[in-house]
Amino acid sequence: MYLNSRNTPPVLLHYRTLSRRMALGAEDSRNMKIYENGFFGECLYDNLFDEVGHDNLYIFRDVYLETGKTGAQYDSIIIADDMITVNEIKNYSGEYYYKNGRFIKNNEVIPDNPFSQADRAVGKLYRICRDAKISADINSKVIFPNDDFKLYSEDDSIWKNIVIRMNLKKYFRQFKDSCNTEKAERLVSVIRSHISENPYFTGSSNIGRINKGLYCGKCGDFNLIKTRYHRQCLGCGTKESNETHMLRVMSDYKYLFYGKGMTRKSVLELIDNEFDKKVVYRAFLKYCDAHKKGNKTDYTFKYYDFDEAYKQTEKLRKHRDYLT
Ligand SMILES: [Zn+2]
Repeated sequence: MYLNSRNTPPVLLHYRTLSRRMALGAEDSRNMKIYENGFFGECLYDNLFDEVGHDNLYIFRDVYLETGKTGAQYDSIIIADDMITVNEIKNYSGEYYYKNGRFIKNNEVIPDNPFSQADRAVGKLYRICRDAKISADINSKVIFPNDDFKLYSEDDSIWKNIVIRMNLKKYFRQFKDSCNTEKAERLVSVIRSHISENPYFTGSSNIGRINKGLYCGKCGDFNLIKTRYHRQCLGCGTKESNETHMLRVMSDYKYLFYGKGMTRKSVLELIDNEFDKKVVYRAFLKYCDAHKKGNKTDYTFKYYDFDEAYKQTEKLRKHRDYLT
């Protein structure tokens, strides 16, 4: 069973939000594509694991574990019986060659080495277990879930450390007879106590460059007609309530200016004063946590992102949306 959900990574939500409000430069576009591709591979892995079934296992997905001053990112940690398995997921596609400890594609060396990433992640976990005075066997596999991936190598030592798409279900089935032991539960609580926020993404954006205002959730058009409780898109006709727009604005704000609290002023600037300040304030009270700092208060969105907020607030919203 999954112990946590796999959310769209903040850095990918940052790029997605940015791309709705500006034309991305070449480097940002390339980065966004890399993150989209990586996340897609992780979802592919989850779907295949779901098909095989995993009720008898404990699985953490996409967690950052802190040990001392450093930490490591884990795509998937499986706890079965008394054993921990780390899966590093790489959504590579095309033909790769592995030589002298490096992956090579079209004669170009891939800067990341998934084996050393996995090895480092395993090392950190051993340290966590040692510090908690609990012993466990920890192993790792690099998973390639894309069925368009081909790997050639004369180094036979690598095959035992990888699982390609063709063998992935078979690999998951190996866990079928495992069970949740008492020790597995202790391992889960030790791991859980080290989960922290991934420090590598701190956000970056220059509000001067982005399009301010509100845009259609369906087609992204910024040309909206104002009615009392809704905005209707001139491009596709979709009509979304002011509250839905505010949810999107707050989610956008979160990922454009990651880690920064919202104020009425900063949100009004982002939406180019399209709503009255009372509308913004009401949305803060309803959907945000307030943080008082001296005589100033800033607000943080209560939900992970727009999609989560939209699902969870259906009953709270007064006016419905009309999607085309
Ligand atoms: Zn539209």
